[in-house]
Amino acid sequence: MDNYHIPAFVLKKPKTRIVCTLGPASSSQEKIRSLIEAGMSVARINLSHATADIHRETIANVRAAANDAGLPVAILTDLPGPKYRLGTLPSEGIDVEAGQSFTLTSGQDSSSRDAVPVLPEGLVRDVQAGDEVLIDDGAIRMIVDTTRGDRVRCTVVDGGLMKSRKAVAVPGRVSHLPYLTEETLHALDFSIDQEVDFIGLSYIRTADDLHRARTYAREHGLNAQLIAKIELPQGVENMDSILEEADGVMVARGDLGVQMPFAQLPGVQKRLIRRANELGKVVITATQMLESMIQAPTPTRAEVADIANAILDGSDAVMLSAETSIGKHPIEATSVMAETAREAEKLLDHEILVRRRAARIERHVDEAIAYSACWAAAEIRASAIVAFTESGSTAARVAAFRPQAPILALYRDPAAGRRLALRWGVTSLEAPKLNSVPWMFHEASRAARETGFAKDGDYIAAVVGMPIGVPGNTNLLRIIRVPEPRPPFPRTVDGEVPQTAVRRRARARPGPKKRSR
Ligand code: PEP
Repeated sequence: MDNYHIPAFVLKKPKTRIVCTLGPASSSQEKIRSLIEAGMSVARINLSHATADIHRETIANVRAAANDAGLPVAILTDLPGPKYRLGTLPSEGIDVEAGQSFTLTSGQDSSSRDAVPVLPEGLVRDVQAGDEVLIDDGAIRMIVDTTRGDRVRCTVVDGGLMKSRKAVAVPGRVSHLPYLTEETLHALDFSIDQEVDFIGLSYIRTADDLHRARTYAREHGLNAQLIAKIELPQGVENMDSILEEADGVMVARGDLGVQMPFAQLPGVQKRLIRRANELGKVVITATQMLESMIQAPTPTRAEVADIANAILDGSDAVMLSAETSIGKHPIEATSVMAETAREAEKLLDHEILVRRRAARIERHVDEAIAYSACWAAAEIRASAIVAFTESGSTAARVAAFRPQAPILALYRDPAAGRRLALRWGVTSLEAPKLNSVPWMFHEASRAARETGFAKDGDYIAAVVGMPIGVPGNTNLLRIIRVPEPRPPFPRTVDGEVPQTAVRRRARARPGPKKRSR
């Protein structure tokens, strides 16, 4: 029987999960290993940039680094969605000045000094004279004068340097592009091929957009968790139905701050986090969390307060984008985020959080067990809640209550362990699937003890589902005083023939007949 082991740095991780976007500043195996030690649980690969070969190599590096570190790290690919972007521009970019006439074209991917392509084709149908067009998250601003053929003629209001692939937004207009554009399908195929754990879906407008992506992924054999990026006013309006269909949401503040008046952003962020918490869905707060650290080695006070507030409001995870993908201090930014999260978590009132969720849950056995485990763990000051989990849903359900006690998830399928990488407060460990409940309780005690979550004399709360191995079937809670003794009968794992049965069969089998003389 192997001993359970988790690296020492895992015990120092905050309960809030950290998503790091990987890019040229952070995609080597060595850098990824350092990001994991600094607190990264999920590696985000933005498929709107770079090439498939580069992404393939980065994903291989994440898997190798996670293996080396000895803990599950999930991969989240981020799909472009029906979003307009500038096409290919000269590498030095194109400078535009206020007052200048400028044309955005929807046809060929070729540019000149006063006309650049916008892809995919269709912008001309989505804008009208007088509309505002924002390029590069609002850094460059133009007003539409006329639309004709495949050309949108504009006057530049705020100039700047335009570069390839920068986002093009028309606040207030709903794009008529189908959700699965050619580019998005390409990125989805790549994600399927790479068997990623999470898919971030940009520019989600309705639950139907998500449904299309889920159906396509499933038909092609991938059962990844879908994270709806809320970055359009339509996504905000439809947040309830989107949350029903999604496994989680991302408050994508970059685009949201362009598409809506930015003063409304804090209110939208709070509403979205509250709704996701109520439904027990994962919520990631993203973008510009440590923007100044793209250049500087330390954060601004406002950035630290922003991270802490996102955590106090109920985020499961916080995300770094350019800070870790192209910034000068990717490891330091991740450490600052982890340290800020650890401090913010000291301010959470777990009793209120557990009670608030209990008032919202539906009358399901598994919810009742998860709640009882959190309540009992608080009453007896348990050192950990240990959840045996098949698909990850038992541990996820416990995490949604935000208990004070750390959650130790014992999984058998490595994909379930990675799915839990986005869940608040969960540490996942691979364990054998045992065939008897007394052995599972012993195993829960052994895992908590050997990993340092509990010492002899401590209490732990163990949650199990019977019959064993049926996902979504949590129905048993036991409070265990560590160490739980070994059961007086042999331990058997799935697929193993019980030794007692082997002995019984051996006794029953007639021995070789004695030869008569
Ligand atoms: C955002 O807009 O905040 C976001 C996370 O999406 P992207 O990085 O794709 O712009």
